[in-house]
Amino acid sequence: MALIVQKYGGSSVADAEKIKNVARRIAETQKKGNEVIVVVSAMGDTTDELIQLAKQINPKPEERELDVLLSTGEIVSSTLLAMALHGLGYEAVSLSGAQAGIETDASYSKARILRIEPKRIVKELEKGNIVIVAGFQGITSDKDITTLGRGGSDTTAVALAASLKAKICQIYTDVEGVYTADPRLVPEARKLDEIGYEEMLELATLGAKVMHSRAVELGQIYNMPILVASSFSDKPGTIIHGGTEMEVRNRVRGIAHDTNVAKVTVVGVPDRPGIASAIFEPLSKANISVDTVVQNASINNITDLTFTVARGDLEKAMSLAKPIAKSIGAKECVSDSTLAKVSIVGTGMQNVPGYAATMFRTLYEQGINIQLITTSEIRITCIIAEDRVKDAIKALHKAFELEKASI
Ligand code: ADP
Ligand code: ASP
Ligand code: MG
Repeated sequence: MALIVQKYGGSSVADAEKIKNVARRIAETQKKGNEVIVVVSAMGDTTDELIQLAKQINPKPEERELDVLLSTGEIVSSTLLAMALHGLGYEAVSLSGAQAGIETDASYSKARILRIEPKRIVKELEKGNIVIVAGFQGITSDKDITTLGRGGSDTTAVALAASLKAKICQIYTDVEGVYTADPRLVPEARKLDEIGYEEMLELATLGAKVMHSRAVELGQIYNMPILVASSFSDKPGTIIHGGTEMEVRNRVRGIAHDTNVAKVTVVGVPDRPGIASAIFEPLSKANISVDTVVQNASINNITDLTFTVARGDLEKAMSLAKPIAKSIGAKECVSDSTLAKVSIVGTGMQNVPGYAATMFRTLYEQGINIQLITTSEIRITCIIAEDRVKDAIKALHKAFELEKASI
């Protein structure tokens, strides 16, 4: 008997009919002789709606209260799914993240899983139950409810699969797998049959929201195979695994985009030691993660320092950076939150020249201005205007011939 962890995303459980459809798929899996743990997201846009509701009450809701509120979305869907399974004559029990033994740190809205105490889950499986766990949430050692960050149910699923040594973690969603680019923006995007953890991690980190990046990271650490497939069809999906294929050398594997980007520029900074640390240390203390950082070459010992943050962090970042800019004698601190990040990713790009040139030329031919550039061994990222994202990824997809299968 194999243990399988399945996760169903928000659009897969958006209404009563869809919940019943998911229940039938889970029942099938158990009928085939498997033990099944299911992780479920909140129905449809519930999480967004709860955030809006909270903001109507208080524009700056307290983080602890907001996390408890948001965790209820997944509680609703998990209980309804258990009821749907009961309706089909199956034994099932729903558990909150806390009941499932998911312990996290206390960073509300972006909590990390510290450990899982799976006793209760094991007990329920032994009783023959299908165990439905509310995704995206956990509990601190002080018994406060936390959430894991948007899209975090994927991470709950892979963490449970790793902790209980499942055979596979299956992520069911509203597309048929991982594509060479977001299929909603690029209709020519091609579904990948498989992808290595490293490339998937890079794509997810750079904005391909089909997988939560921390879920991929856990998959890689625990070598847990992850299947991404549709909850509406029986098509084979994409396997994310460790053994990447040798033949995809010299190729871009996929394109990711992220519109959740804001830029801060500290203008007229005196070029002397200690300036970068004066600006970035307070940001890191405030738990703001800084992404791209670019410092211009200085003229007359004066330079500009630019960095990007998630849009949700912009207000906080500006309120910290402004007084620091003043204290170090910088001219001003300006921001722009109409930007986006477009990245090409592929392990086959390592040590091969020409990719950057093709990317820049392609964007130039579209009349797209590149504001910032960053690279790693296996990716190149350009920051551009948000309203040009679709043109950029469509053109890059064509330029790197991603619609063609790799040989
Ligand atoms: P779920 O609610 O099931 O977790 P998400 O909305 O979080 O689903 O993720 C699925 C979405 O990810 C798809 O609808 C698609 O628009 C988007 N997406 C972005 N990049 C990719 C990609 N490379 N391959 C597949 N889907 C992608
Ligand atoms: N419901 C949460 C969100 O919308 C978590 C998830 O769907 O994975 O972000
Ligand atoms: Mg998701």
